[in-house]
Amino acid sequence: MKKASWFEIIAARAWNLLNEGKPFTPIFVTGTFLFYHIGNWTEPGFWAAAALGLVAVLPLLAIYYHYDFPLMLRNYLWAPLVVYLLIGWEMELKLVALSLALYFFFTVFFWGTLYYHLRIGTTWWNFTRFWKLVLKNSDSTSGNAQEQIPKFLLILALWQAQFLALQNGTPFTGLDWFWLIGFQVAVGLYSYILHRYLFDWKPEEIRGHVHRPEPPANPLSEKVVVIVVDGMRKDRFQQANTPFLHKMCQNGTEYTQMETVYPARTVVCFSSMFTGAYPREHGITSNMVWKLGVRTETIFDSLRKVGKKGRLLGIAHLIDAMGDDVESVTAVMHNDVADQNIMKRARLIMNEQDPDLLVVQLIATDQTGHSRGVFYPEYIEKIEQADRLIEDFVDWIHDRGIGDKTTFIVCADHGQADGIGGHGHLDEGERYVPFFMFGNAVQPGKKVEQKHSLISLAPTLAYLLGAPYPAGSRGPVLTEAIQHRKEGNQA
Ligand SMILES: [Zn+2]
Repeated sequence: MKKASWFEIIAARAWNLLNEGKPFTPIFVTGTFLFYHIGNWTEPGFWAAAALGLVAVLPLLAIYYHYDFPLMLRNYLWAPLVVYLLIGWEMELKLVALSLALYFFFTVFFWGTLYYHLRIGTTWWNFTRFWKLVLKNSDSTSGNAQEQIPKFLLILALWQAQFLALQNGTPFTGLDWFWLIGFQVAVGLYSYILHRYLFDWKPEEIRGHVHRPEPPANPLSEKVVVIVVDGMRKDRFQQANTPFLHKMCQNGTEYTQMETVYPARTVVCFSSMFTGAYPREHGITSNMVWKLGVRTETIFDSLRKVGKKGRLLGIAHLIDAMGDDVESVTAVMHNDVADQNIMKRARLIMNEQDPDLLVVQLIATDQTGHSRGVFYPEYIEKIEQADRLIEDFVDWIHDRGIGDKTTFIVCADHGQADGIGGHGHLDEGERYVPFFMFGNAVQPGKKVEQKHSLISLAPTLAYLLGAPYPAGSRGPVLTEAIQHRKEGNQA
């Protein structure tokens, strides 16, 4: 299958500007404002008034960029809008209507229909479902209508009011300044207080020194294969018919309370899984990566120190975090064959490079969740397809005679919530992910009920493969799952 081309890598980054909620808000507001005034562009004084008006609302833009208003906090975004109207400031209905029309055109048609049709082959009729998903969606993307609408309405109204005052040459009095600045300071304070006191569901971090055993001199496992079924929601996985994964889970060790990190965005989760560090430590805090590369060591760096090799087979976005350790796959292919192609490529990598650690990201489940929703049969079908593909791959590893020397780990990076398969703010269904290990080095038939975090994956991989722990990793090793064989019986 095709690698992601350089064009796709750049296009994926550009798409993130519109896809992530934070950069989207200022881009959308600016685009809408200019579109609204398209007939005035050549008028004298237009650009000066537009630019000064923008400067006047910069504090509000910054506040709404910084604060996400996650989950139920987004309901509080209507209050500043009501206060704005109570003060008696203007809100032009034509501008409100245009911005709403553009927003739904962008989310439902451009993204939900055209973009998905061209990239993964969803039907031209996808808008008939997608509008319902957008209205419910609660993640940190631009597809969170209930967050974006009150945000852009307020910024646009305030910008337009300042623009008109400037263009009409209405002299600004001290009182105007008082209201303009006072209002934005109040919104800032209000946002700070809400996030400080109401946003209380972030996963607790593991603090202080974690006792970790020295990695054994003889590696417990010659090879490790990690299969990440991107976005596989735990309760939907349990409802799916997945005989092979079920058997793997029964014959291996399952972690029943494996928690992802915040914000649960794919690149953030993968960075935490393979550095063993929290987002604020490895520096990747959204899918929009402004500064390329994680700041802390990865498991791939650790393996290099002992002359071993790890490869991560996944989408182009992951290159932004883990650079050359990523074997990219193109994300532009029909979703019905995506995972199949990825598994083909995984075999090729095993044949050609024979890595000690192979991480495979299956993307079809996540993509179906995003394009068609997680509470529909299509999503379950993708999980069941992953089950068969993983079975074939594990059989193939055994056929090569290395099955007994390989540890398999199957997990998800995050779940997906209702709506457009959203993930980020840890809504219902996102936080706890399926996680189980299987192989000769793993305890059979064990369930670990204690709470763990995905940041334990990197140190556990180091422990299994006999490599040093990545510097900066802080997760404890998942020792409950590990079976120490007697001396002289090493595989
Ligand atoms: Zn993901």
